[in-house]
Amino acid sequence: MSKVLVIGAGGVGSVAVHKMAMNPAIFSDIHLASRTVSKCEAIADSVKQRTGVTIATYAIDADDVEATSALIREIGPELVVNLALPYQDLAIMDACLATGTHYMDTANYEPKDVAKFEYHWQWAYQERFKEAGLMALLGSGFDPGVTSIFAMWLKKHKLKTIRRLDILDCNGGDHGQAFATNFNPEINIREVTAPARHWENGQFVETPAMAKKVSFDFEGVGPKNMYMMYHEELESLARFIPEMERARFWMTFGDAYIQHLTVLQNVGMTRIDPVTYNGVEIVPLQFLKAVLPEPASLGPTTKGKTNIGDIATGEALDGSGEKTFYIKNICDHEDAYAETGNQAVSYTTGVPAMIGAAMIVTGAWKGEGVFNMEQFDPDPFMDMLNTHGLPWTVEELAEPLPF
Ligand code: NDP
Repeated sequence: MSKVLVIGAGGVGSVAVHKMAMNPAIFSDIHLASRTVSKCEAIADSVKQRTGVTIATYAIDADDVEATSALIREIGPELVVNLALPYQDLAIMDACLATGTHYMDTANYEPKDVAKFEYHWQWAYQERFKEAGLMALLGSGFDPGVTSIFAMWLKKHKLKTIRRLDILDCNGGDHGQAFATNFNPEINIREVTAPARHWENGQFVETPAMAKKVSFDFEGVGPKNMYMMYHEELESLARFIPEMERARFWMTFGDAYIQHLTVLQNVGMTRIDPVTYNGVEIVPLQFLKAVLPEPASLGPTTKGKTNIGDIATGEALDGSGEKTFYIKNICDHEDAYAETGNQAVSYTTGVPAMIGAAMIVTGAWKGEGVFNMEQFDPDPFMDMLNTHGLPWTVEELAEPLPF
């Protein structure tokens, strides 16, 4: 039995709140706040219709620490689940410290004016959370989130060491639009246009964005081009798997997506510095977001599957030499939409957000300070993935990845 406050009424917030309402024995009292209250109300209506559960809704600007602290005091939750944007992470952590409330999110803090994906801003809260006897859990989505749990499960049950790790994120969904992003366009485009970085022999190696491309045959999807890029879990994985010699992150993109993005970049529409237009300062990428389809609107038309997993090579636990394992989840866009009214990209993030929240409020994961997913026992989380909509499989591969 627990009271939680979810902040953020986008696709991920919608899935997380639906899944919490489907688990009333864990989440007995659910509150949802976001900048636009009508979005919270639409989610509350859908939750009521699908599950019979009533959730309370509020308008909040989570950049305003005072207002957020006042709302947390009014509601009195055990845990705040931050599913707004990465820009709000520090403000919401401050409000949690001010009110003595546990904190969780799905994406690391980013300053608005520079596309930097690093944990140091949030790791700097370690002492303050510890002294307050509070827990902050960072990155409980799919990637980051499940991809780290997958690696730690392999390290617990299959491999004594992980020497090489590749995270493969494939979205084989087709939404029928010429160009759209499957989650917040501003965050997505900042991530994709940033230089690629991978971990190799104790340091990050930087290469130009989208420069390394490989074709891979994804189960349930078929062959797709995937591109090496930076993703924030590489930083926490490198920290918590110290023997790791190489870690890379790959994401699939279709040719049409790459062509559109190249043009948008070439004409300056992905810039994140302000330009003056008719006497008004606008950030081109924020303007672009305003004219692109809302990710939530893609739900009804998206067909196909996502396939996200880890391929890890290292010494087998049973002493049988070097082994390679592939652990993954395949999620169907139409099934996700039928269950929660949201497509699989939101679903694969919102379900692990609900599970991370469950780990905290049930006490399955406990701690004082700021934690990444790698620091806890993966087993209870993996069990809930299987029973709450994101079943996973693990197989031994005959050989390591050839590239
Ligand atoms: P959306 O853009 O769909 O939703 C974000 C929500 O946050 C919107 O409802 C928005 O309100 C609200 N919001 C924005 N700013 C504020 C503010 N200042 N105060 C209060 N509410 C605010 O994003 P998604 O649902 O797709 O993503 C949510 C989070 O999940 C993001 O941080 C994203 O990076 C992360 N994510 C993580 C993934 C993972 O696997 N780990 C994968 C995908 C996403 P409004 O509607 O008014 O703009």
